[in-house]
Amino acid sequence: MRTVRMLGNCGVDVIDLPDPEPAERDEVVVEVMSSPLCGSERHAWDGGRRMGANNVFNSGHEGSGVVAKARGSKYVKEGDRVALHAAAPCGSCRYCVAGHWVLCDRPPGRRLPGNHSQYVLVNERSCLPLADDISFETGALFGDAIGTPFRAIKRLGVTGFDTVLITGQGPIGLAATMLCRFLNARTIVLDVNPYRLEQGRQCGADACVNPAEETDIHARIAEIAGPRGVDVALECSAAPEAQTLCMDVLRKSGRMALIGVSDKGPMIDTMQHFTLKEIEVIGTWYSAPTDHEELEALVRRGLPADDMVTHRFGIEEAPEAFDLFFGGDAAKVVLEPWG
Ligand SMILES: [Zn+2]
Ligand SMILES: [Zn+2]
Repeated sequence: MRTVRMLGNCGVDVIDLPDPEPAERDEVVVEVMSSPLCGSERHAWDGGRRMGANNVFNSGHEGSGVVAKARGSKYVKEGDRVALHAAAPCGSCRYCVAGHWVLCDRPPGRRLPGNHSQYVLVNERSCLPLADDISFETGALFGDAIGTPFRAIKRLGVTGFDTVLITGQGPIGLAATMLCRFLNARTIVLDVNPYRLEQGRQCGADACVNPAEETDIHARIAEIAGPRGVDVALECSAAPEAQTLCMDVLRKSGRMALIGVSDKGPMIDTMQHFTLKEIEVIGTWYSAPTDHEELEALVRRGLPADDMVTHRFGIEEAPEAFDLFFGGDAAKVVLEPWG
């Protein structure tokens, strides 16, 4: 089979590997039909070389496909259409029982070598049934790209009464905009990249603001949202200044989700930001398996999930796909391993 190999220092190539075989009863092989690129792969792409099984590593963790080999599986059979959940849950710890697979106490299962491949070896529980009327491309977006902001939006109870600030219009922020629009919430979106801001506009944002072009970003947001502030903030940029901004412009008793992954902290005034305003802040980084079926239902009711895909590449074009995606002038970029 053909698979992408991360070379580090902004390079990938495409190589041949033997097709994977299930070694354990709970392992299955999935023929990958759609494998989107995710912003969280940046560290794998532009960092140092990382080694995986067979000295090959690729960071693909979104995807969908068809079960190709399932010897002893109780959950799936060969030929099943599935969306791939990135967790390999044990199914029995307290977090798994509650549906919080990404918090599972058991270490992640084996995965060879990542979803940017023609075949991938996964834990059988990672295979969520994909309905026949949902495309592979849409199903591949459910776990992370759409599922992550969806879970945050659900946990924060966003409704059509809310004005929502969304910082960052990369794929996660863009999906947040699309979902809030679908729920009839009012959205203010921020990004310093004009291309991404335009993507936000096309996804239905009510106001698009480029902070780099504003002299007083706080005043600009107050002008749009009103002096009370925004009801909800979804931080999707991972920029520490955006995290601080969200807490600044949130109204008293507002709700906020930290979705962007950053190892640098925001400047927090615990008394002004938290105690006196009584705001609620949650962290979230991936979907729950129960979100999958709800997203299928939303797509049937018209959620334009595929609109966020701007580019599609065959697997041999993986170097161009990564260059384009991390160049920033693309929304969701998808690898089609058999294209
Ligand atoms: Zn991801
Ligand atoms: Zn578990």
